Amino acid sequence: MKAVVPTRIATRIAHLGTETAFAVSAEAAAFAAAGNEVYAFHLGDLNIPTPANVVEASFKAISDGKTGYCPNAGIPQLRAALAADVSASHGVPYAAENVAIEPGGKPVIGKFILALMNPGDEVLYPNPGYPIYESQIEFHGGVAVPYGYLEGDTGFAIDLEALEAAITPRTRLLVLNDLQNPMGAECSPAELARLADLAVEHDLTVLCDEAYFDIRYEGKSASLAALPGMAERCLILYTFSKKFAMTGWRLGAAIGPPDIVEVITKLNVNDESCPNHFIQYGALEGLTGDQSGPRHIVEVLRERRDAAVAILSETPGVRCFTPDATFYLFANVSGAMAAKGITSVEDFRRAVLHDTGVSVCSRVHFGRVQPGERESYVRFAYSGIDTSRIVEGLERLRAYLSGDRVEA
Ligand code: PLP
Repeated sequence: MKAVVPTRIATRIAHLGTETAFAVSAEAAAFAAAGNEVYAFHLGDLNIPTPANVVEASFKAISDGKTGYCPNAGIPQLRAALAADVSASHGVPYAAENVAIEPGGKPVIGKFILALMNPGDEVLYPNPGYPIYESQIEFHGGVAVPYGYLEGDTGFAIDLEALEAAITPRTRLLVLNDLQNPMGAECSPAELARLADLAVEHDLTVLCDEAYFDIRYEGKSASLAALPGMAERCLILYTFSKKFAMTGWRLGAAIGPPDIVEVITKLNVNDESCPNHFIQYGALEGLTGDQSGPRHIVEVLRERRDAAVAILSETPGVRCFTPDATFYLFANVSGAMAAKGITSVEDFRRAVLHDTGVSVCSRVHFGRVQPGERESYVRFAYSGIDTSRIVEGLERLRAYLSGDRVEA
């Protein structure tokens, strides 16, 4: 087929970003297809099955004929059950009218931006962070203003001073991904309080991306939305993807003030009419039925986290924390790169893939690299790889970075 004439494509598409991490998947797949062993740490997907009760309830819903359109904001029972669930975990009284069920958590990002941002408005977003924020802000004509993180002794923390300095009279929105992808960072209560103060002082509306709220090994997750006066300023991105290992089912929700939820529901009407009907009955069972499924998922992930951290912390030139939540390790590999004489983190990522089979994403896959960044990072996702493979792959990496010969 002839190449598509570039001018056929609308000019706005030039502003649409993507998830470049998918290119890493393709690279790893090509390397595996050439007969090489690949240890897949690049994907934020899960290789753990969806809980059986969720699957059964969804099958039953199909048999019961829940196969037509349903209300645009989702079935009332699921909206009510999710409102009750999030009210209990957040200590904020949400009702069904605060909930719009969505085909995944990701669509909440674009719909939040569409609902609240005018062209030219400035939006603060985390960088390194989930790349779709930057993409959606710019695609819809906003100004994407990154805020970064500082590496401390026990983990990463938002550079609050820099964030505050970046606020201007045009700043309208803040995107917060507490329990963060890719860094596993988590705000302290004091940091959340400071962010709440800034939101009030500058009249910001906040997208609280809580995709990893329930993927938690120690302690208890906290939400900015739960702070006094914040529920009316915060839209929560909820997803069934991680807690119930349902990434491919595509089900999430926008939870927040009814005026925003109403606009998001109108966007649903325009985009997909309604979320997939029958899987909402599966999600309802997930929320209200036997909870051993999500508990098992967290236990499996905890074992993987501990196995990965144990080896990485013994690997020369690699520094990584033990996050209490998420399924990511954001490792500082500056020392390992220096030891290998490699200056570009992408060159390092490729060298590691080719010499050990360990496939990771690097910092460049999580938003545009900012001026002045000196340290180099790669992200290990342990959600899609079993513990035995984690140990095998990371032992190869350790051998490689220790200067030992890696067995073919
Ligand atoms: N937000 C963050 C920070 C994520 O990492 C992801 C997925 O990886 C999502 C949102 C969206 O997930 P989903 O669309 O599967 O709910």
